[in-house]
Amino acid sequence: QPVCKKRTDCKVKDAYKLGKTLGTGGFAIVKLATDKKTGEQFAVKIMTLPPAGVEPGDNENTREDIFKEIDILCGLNHENVVYLKEYFEEGNKVYLITELVTGGELLEAVLQRGSYSEGEARLAFVQLLRGIQYLHSKNVVHRDLKLENLLLASPDDITKVKIADFGLAKQSADAMSTVCGTPQYVAPEVIQGTSGTVYGPAVDMWSAGVVLFILLGGYPPFWSENEPALFEQIRRGKYSFDDPVWDVISHSAKDLISKLLIVHPNQRLTATQCLEHPWVTAGSVPSNPLT
Ligand code: ADP
Ligand code: MG
Repeated sequence: QPVCKKRTDCKVKDAYKLGKTLGTGGFAIVKLATDKKTGEQFAVKIMTLPPAGVEPGDNENTREDIFKEIDILCGLNHENVVYLKEYFEEGNKVYLITELVTGGELLEAVLQRGSYSEGEARLAFVQLLRGIQYLHSKNVVHRDLKLENLLLASPDDITKVKIADFGLAKQSADAMSTVCGTPQYVAPEVIQGTSGTVYGPAVDMWSAGVVLFILLGGYPPFWSENEPALFEQIRRGKYSFDDPVWDVISHSAKDLISKLLIVHPNQRLTATQCLEHPWVTAGSVPSNPLT
């Protein structure tokens, strides 16, 4: 059932005090927003709409992309997915008022530590899997899972992950074209695909495999300065555990990665299957609080 969260009774600046910038991505700027009535803090994602009828440039979202992101977020409510409270449309801008996530990007946490221990990686990865499982159960394919779009719920817990940034979560092939940023997480079928192909939830599981590889190894499984060479590695699913960092990592962890970084999408594990994999079930992972 569609949920309308568009607020029209006032302007965004009547309801919220906008504060410092929390982050920027390819398309948007995200700022702190304080509810003027309650003092409660949120994050506001400000997206600029392209003028109606004008083709957007290479690095811009179309109006459709933006409203797609809003539509998707409106219907979602899960511990591991950034929550949308409401939104405003004013002139050529859209303001998404979302829950404030204060722990920064998972990317920063990994860069800071070099890599995660297996125990930490398990805790963080389970959160990601639960978020993905929820999205896939709602027939939402994220399509842009990467460390920059995974946020840590709080600065003192590096394992509590929330999925953000649904800008590319649309049913179109060009969503994954390389103009949208680093292609390091892109599934082989997306590179291979022709425009108009609809990709399934397995593209997120490939990206999840890349995320887990980076969490444990501290470097990406597919990497080249040269984009065609990178694409060739991905198309062939060519990566290795040869680096000495993998010597101390369990076979079980490598087994899970190897069941995600499989070129054929039908053979990749689903989020639910991952949650049943021995590496995941081996550790005790607290369940989500009942909401
Ligand atoms: P883009 O579509 O431009 O990539 P994102 O939604 O990924 O936009 O947001 C860009 C950055 O802003 C994120 O990588 C993160 O650092 C920060 N950010 C996004 N949403 C939130 C939030 N709810 N709370 C705190 N920071 C956020
Ligand atoms: Mg982003």
